[in-house]
Amino acid sequence: MSGVTLRLDTATWRAHLRAVADATPGLVPVIKGNGYGFGLARLASEAQLLGMDTLAVGLPSEVVAVRDAFDGDIVILNPWRQDDQHATELARDPRIISTVSRLGDLEILANVGGHPRVLCEALTSMHRHGINVSDLPGIEAMAEYVRIEGWSIHLPMAGDTVAEAIRLAGACRSAHAAPLWLSHFPAQAVHQLPNPDAVRLRHGTQLWLGDPVSRRTTATVLDVHRVRRGDHAGYRQRRIPHDGWIVVVAGGTSQGVGLEAPSSASTPRQRAISVATGGLAAAGRALSPYTIDGRKRWFVEPPHMQSSLVLLPDDATPPDVGDEVPVELRLTTATVDQVVDA
Ligand SMILES: *Cc1c(COP(=O)(O)O)cnc(C)c1O
Repeated sequence: MSGVTLRLDTATWRAHLRAVADATPGLVPVIKGNGYGFGLARLASEAQLLGMDTLAVGLPSEVVAVRDAFDGDIVILNPWRQDDQHATELARDPRIISTVSRLGDLEILANVGGHPRVLCEALTSMHRHGINVSDLPGIEAMAEYVRIEGWSIHLPMAGDTVAEAIRLAGACRSAHAAPLWLSHFPAQAVHQLPNPDAVRLRHGTQLWLGDPVSRRTTATVLDVHRVRRGDHAGYRQRRIPHDGWIVVVAGGTSQGVGLEAPSSASTPRQRAISVATGGLAAAGRALSPYTIDGRKRWFVEPPHMQSSLVLLPDDATPPDVGDEVPVELRLTTATVDQVVDA
């Protein structure tokens, strides 16, 4: 086994998933994109294990990756559009709930036949997708031709979103009585909503990634080379500033290794300190997300596609080829080579 590995303490992770499920009214797990680093199929089987009756994907193309591992209903979060043939085929599938974000689209979908199951999305202060409040009453005329499973409300993560949700929920329910499906709404405020027993809360990040102690990401050391100050290395043949080692580690742009660690010198203050102290950042170098011999180390140059060159100073102890070193990854953008359960 080599490459970039996500190591899971499976029992601890599942205890966290269970705790979130128990604390969340009508939880709908969101499983989309890179599968939050775990992969779509893996999360679908976790949702099945959790006993969920519904999960949500982002795109129609993601349905195929979850539908065999999970036997409940599948919501497609991205709004249905008539030019997407696949989305229209799926809309006729009894396990699929499509999201509709324009009155005109609902009208077209109503004419597809077979009473597609839909969530009607109301426009929030996100200004992403949704039907304007003033157009909500137009829904009622279509309710005969589609199965309206609920209202979809996608809230931002800043501002008084509880007040906004309550306001919108009122407008939605006076247009058509149906359950509320909310994203980024706090569980402890659900009782303030109309008909709280029918509320569904959708969670991705907080569910799958909310327990960082249950996982570790590591990368395999592929090669180690002795270098001297003044040597040149890498595609760009940049000058090596001091004696040391070049450590070639697994992981590059394709696995989601960024030019900087998600938590590296990213604030202006940290950058200012780096310049003031003559740190390598001042010389145009970036701190890598790899920890070798106890510290984050500097990139020799930007990550390659599937590996990275990292510079280890002379006073550090170089790793052996084949060692696993910690790498900090943003799991919503990373694609690991394997997930290992322990
Ligand atoms: C992606 C998405 C979610 C999940 O977001 P997280 O921040 O990962 O919980 C919820 N609702 C909608 C509509 C989404 O598109």
